[in-house]
Amino acid sequence: MTDANCIFCRIAKGEIPCAKIYEDDNVLAFLDLAPVHHGHTLVIPKSHHKDMLEVPAELGTSIFSALQKVAAAVMKATGAQGFNVMQNNGLAAGQTVFHIHWHIIPRFDDDSLEMWEQGSYPDAAAMQAMAASVASHL
Ligand code: 5GP
Ligand code: ZN
Repeated sequence: MTDANCIFCRIAKGEIPCAKIYEDDNVLAFLDLAPVHHGHTLVIPKSHHKDMLEVPAELGTSIFSALQKVAAAVMKATGAQGFNVMQNNGLAAGQTVFHIHWHIIPRFDDDSLEMWEQGSYPDAAAMQAMAASVASHL
């Protein structure tokens, strides 16, 4: 399943060039052209799925295995001390390309990148109520 208007489908098909790192039957990994740090890599399924809610769970093993392999290689190549795996779903979450992809972002002890601020619940009951509300939609 591909979408002729999707930039990542076109990269997966080789119609648009990329700085390729890894590919197998199901997955492609290539450098993000606007890296947070050099070595910032995107891992995509070759088939077109918009986001986490639409990607078939059966692809999970291929994607997880590629993430592990590529992240280890990014660490070695960049000398990073850590890495983030990020995956944005929806405009509100910062998704700009609507073909699901995972970011591997190498991180360095002194890079002082802030991800986001965390808050708190007013009390334990509010936290339990939130958990119950989410669970009721499963
Ligand atoms: P999102 O914001 O959707 O999670 O991430 C999309 C990412 O794709 C961005 O980090 C952006 O820099 C990257 N990107 C967008 N178009 C291209 C492209 O044509 N080639 C490459 N290599 N990366 C792209
Ligand atoms: Zn696509």
